Amino acid sequence: MANKIDTLCVHGAADKNNATGAVTVPVYQAATFAHPGAGQSTGYDYSRMQNPTREALEKTVAALENGCDAMAFSSGMAAMTVLTELFGPGDNIIASGNLYGGSVRLLDNVTAKHGVTTTYLHTGDAAAVRKAVTAKTKAVFVETPTNPMMHITDVAEISKICKERDLLLVVDNTFLTPIYQRPLELGADAVLHSGTKYLGGHNDTLAGFLVAKDPALAEKLRFLYKTIGACLSPWDSFLTLRGIKTLAVRMERITANARKIADWLKTHKKVKSVLYPGQSGMISFSTDTPETAKNVLGRVKTVLYAESLGGVESLITYPVLQTHADVPPEIREAFGINDRLLRLSVGIEDADDLIADLKAALE
Ligand SMILES: *Cc1c(COP(=O)(O)O)cnc(C)c1O
Repeated sequence: MANKIDTLCVHGAADKNNATGAVTVPVYQAATFAHPGAGQSTGYDYSRMQNPTREALEKTVAALENGCDAMAFSSGMAAMTVLTELFGPGDNIIASGNLYGGSVRLLDNVTAKHGVTTTYLHTGDAAAVRKAVTAKTKAVFVETPTNPMMHITDVAEISKICKERDLLLVVDNTFLTPIYQRPLELGADAVLHSGTKYLGGHNDTLAGFLVAKDPALAEKLRFLYKTIGACLSPWDSFLTLRGIKTLAVRMERITANARKIADWLKTHKKVKSVLYPGQSGMISFSTDTPETAKNVLGRVKTVLYAESLGGVESLITYPVLQTHADVPPEIREAFGINDRLLRLSVGIEDADDLIADLKAALE
């Protein structure tokens, strides 16, 4: 019987080169690998193609997402860049509105240069997605829940449309992680991760992943991967692999903390609305005034005012000035990303300490 996901996190992929009994995968800090003879290979030739530490990490992430292959990148944006190279002049991508700001920046400023257009809409509205598909549409890119407005998309529902119209369905699964959502099992073709967030989990390394469901797509992505070269280093692969060992227990604690904090925020008189999807650790909330929001950022002590999310340390950000600063103001406003909105990434500290810190900051 296949192992459950908590076990996969710890034992996802053994080091197939292990002759010592080491219980963890070593850092193979090698750029190149010697060949036994003419035309022969140990299976490793050059670390841009594959490295044993990265391979163990990739096999682990592929197992967690139930894909046939996973590629580990130097960041989530590197993974996104390679993904967009599947498309060319005249192609159209339908994407969730209020995507991660960096993804919008890439699609609108870099991918667009190659003649690829992006149509943004609320992918939670399946009828709107169906209506937006044209002969040029090649893919639907879904982030669920979205960042920071927590819009939810039913991946299975969108996958039906994609299958009918022969579109690639890609899901950014950074927020929920495979612990709470496995998009490939819901009909998606590929999954993207910022491994910098929950997978790595310790705010100490950048990483990104693309996971493919079937070998044909994996082969196309592998070709782009080795050609473009934005691969994860052996050391960062080791750190991410180590982070993943505790993913299941971190997510359990983070969700418990986040539920408690979201419930408490709803009772605070200076908090006007709270967006929390019920799982994982991302909470967006609106304060009564922009001053309150700015005061919180300057006053928190245990919670750190810093960009990023998904680590053991709780972080708070100001989307209007940080993650979404490059999103055009009218689009930002339309999604409710204004100067009263704060985004909290709940960590694994004691929930009562976090509440006390937020309480003092909101005074
Ligand atoms: C952070 C993030 C990214 C980009 O990942 P990096 O590792 O920062 O390059 C993409 N999508 C989502 C949802 C993110 O939170």
